Amino acid sequence: MPASAASAREILTGLHDVMASRSGAQAKLNKVVKIIAEAMASEVCSIYLLRDGVLELFATVGLNQSAVHVTKLGLGEGLVGTIAKQVSVLNLAEAASHPEFAYRPETGEELFHSFAGVPIVRRERAIGVLCVQHADPRAYDELEIEALQTVAMVLSELIANAGLADRASSASANARDQGSVRLSGLRLVTGMAVGVAVFHQPRVTIEHTVAEDIEAERHRVYSAFRKMREQIDSMTSLAEFGTAGEHHDILETYKMFAYDEGWSRRINEAIDSGLTAEAAIERVRQRMQTRMRDIDDPLLQERMHDLDDLSNRLLRIVSGQLGTAAQMGLRGDAILVARNLGPAELLEYDRRRLKGVILEEGSLTAHVTIVARAMGIPMLGRLRNVRQAVYEGDHILLDGTEGAAFVRPSGPVEEAFKAKLAATQKKRAEFAALRDVPPVTRDGTRVTLMVNAGLRDDAEAIHMVGADGIGLFRTEFQFLVSAALPRRESQQRLYRSVLEAAGDKPVIFRTLDVGGDKALPYLQTGDGDEQEENPAMGWRALRLALDRDGLLKAQARALLEAAAGRDLNIMFPMVSEPWEFDAARDIVEQQRSWLAERRKLLPAKISYGAMLEVPALAETLDILLPKIDFLSIGTNDLTQFLFAADRAHPKLAERYDWLSPAILRFLRRIVREASAAGVPVGVCGEMGGRTLEAMALMGIGVERFSITPVAVGPIKAMIRSVDRGALIQALEQILAQPPSDIRGALSRWAEENDVFVG
Ligand code: PEP
Ligand code: MG
Repeated sequence: MPASAASAREILTGLHDVMASRSGAQAKLNKVVKIIAEAMASEVCSIYLLRDGVLELFATVGLNQSAVHVTKLGLGEGLVGTIAKQVSVLNLAEAASHPEFAYRPETGEELFHSFAGVPIVRRERAIGVLCVQHADPRAYDELEIEALQTVAMVLSELIANAGLADRASSASANARDQGSVRLSGLRLVTGMAVGVAVFHQPRVTIEHTVAEDIEAERHRVYSAFRKMREQIDSMTSLAEFGTAGEHHDILETYKMFAYDEGWSRRINEAIDSGLTAEAAIERVRQRMQTRMRDIDDPLLQERMHDLDDLSNRLLRIVSGQLGTAAQMGLRGDAILVARNLGPAELLEYDRRRLKGVILEEGSLTAHVTIVARAMGIPMLGRLRNVRQAVYEGDHILLDGTEGAAFVRPSGPVEEAFKAKLAATQKKRAEFAALRDVPPVTRDGTRVTLMVNAGLRDDAEAIHMVGADGIGLFRTEFQFLVSAALPRRESQQRLYRSVLEAAGDKPVIFRTLDVGGDKALPYLQTGDGDEQEENPAMGWRALRLALDRDGLLKAQARALLEAAAGRDLNIMFPMVSEPWEFDAARDIVEQQRSWLAERRKLLPAKISYGAMLEVPALAETLDILLPKIDFLSIGTNDLTQFLFAADRAHPKLAERYDWLSPAILRFLRRIVREASAAGVPVGVCGEMGGRTLEAMALMGIGVERFSITPVAVGPIKAMIRSVDRGALIQALEQILAQPPSDIRGALSRWAEENDVFVG
């Protein structure tokens, strides 16, 4: 057995008896410092506890007893305060030479040169400090520090049970010891939210640290390891892949660690020292975390992060606290914090209580983002280390519009936020008042304003915001949130209920846009699990649907049956060449004939549309237009292809503007050609949901939009305040000789002409 385990065990055996004794908390602490000093042959051993935000000397051997309950240090003050504030270890051969050293004469500590201290941690923050001191200037070795940390874990249990220190989770302690912070991330879904931080995978609080029976604890860890390996194996074997948030390469790393002998050995050693399974896992996790801080290599940091996640998973298994926060139920307004999430995981949450989401990862095109947008839940992404900066229970103000989260906000920050929130709500109420007024320009053009949807409940949004219908129903949502391929009957049920909810308003169903990054876990796409280099430009959407036509056939039948007796609008995604449209339409028509032969009730009318998302299609419009009933421009994909700029890449997110000559001229050409051919053309990408962009689109001739429901109000306000004729002229001029800043020019034009673009 290593020396650290031996000395820690010796101390723990002593502590076990102390903890079991009936003496009071103070008497226990007095005994504890004695046991530690003796076991470590230290002249001084002291315990400081955080009380009312200040570290108070609570027990000591070696320092003057008269200093007990008298010596106090603020967080960050002196060596003890530094340890507590940074939740990190200090090990110094010469204490006085440390820049933070604060001499306290009443303690008599001038006699002692060496100093080692470790934080006593509860719920990831320091509730006290345990330290030893020695007259000889010597550094404590690693094994001794290990032993101290192990003892500190046990102490944290004793202290928490006795209620001696500030409660680690109390909001006041939070504000004091961590202060408020502003975190900024990538805006994934705009909007504002207030709530309490809830971890998707809650941290486990360890209640018992000292083992009664070491062999039993060892057994518990073994079986937890076995379970964890099984879980990860099954996640990797595609069963959950895609619906869970983790990517393939993260799972691979998980797997590597799950089978890592070194990790399980270290946990075993910690059990040898007398800790329970939970405490041993946590001890090893803390040790890794300390090491992580000193690593400068981002790749290694990332790996450590994975290991941290896995430790948490192991802890959850061993302690039986398995559920996600969704399964345990949200108790109040919550801001969910997670490394990543799958769309299905997000949908498990109570929509009334889930107010916002913060992800360490995440991207604009991730399914979870699309689902959050559909649910109207503000979301921030790419906040690295958010789970270190935020504690469960922290009060958070999330400003999805600014891309910021204010954690443990100070009074003035909260006031400013509330003022902004009130202004936003007031505006929203003003927009709601526009529900029943038509989107007509000042010079009398009736614009068609529809909404994008994907979930059953979204269909209601048409009526809530006063839209003209659903211009893009993303049918893949149902597939993304299902654990298994939705059967034709359940597809049909969904389509029918959407049509019913829409009433007499049209719904445009887009056939499945899956594949590439929208992998379906249960759908073997044929080429093994080979990862695509460029999923957005990969084997997706219509390409996949035509190659594996079973899916499209089933979907076509479900759509035809659902729309029996009414109008059906079908649109195909990612059409790149006109023949692809023909082939897709043929598949639907075959299904129609099949139903007709069986005398089934058919839709009254079927309209076929194509999405223009691939620039190449713009060059063959003369071939395509005569075949189609409508055209819908998907600016999300189209612009990423035009600029060759991945729309999910954070570094490129702000680099190219939708309001650029290239995009506006390109779109104008399409709109003109389609209009000349008498084919209705609309825009269904995110671009159309922004007031200034939508105004520019109207200036190049767009009269149909399908946008996110919350944007209907502002866009309606813009439409009703603009003179279309004048706008078209302005765009003509701007695009004839584009200024370097089209956005600026358009904003000025809007201001001069009293057009609402706020
Ligand atoms: C688009 O690409 O603009 C679009 C509307 O489709 P999606 O965002 O679903 O790819
Ligand atoms: Mg698209």
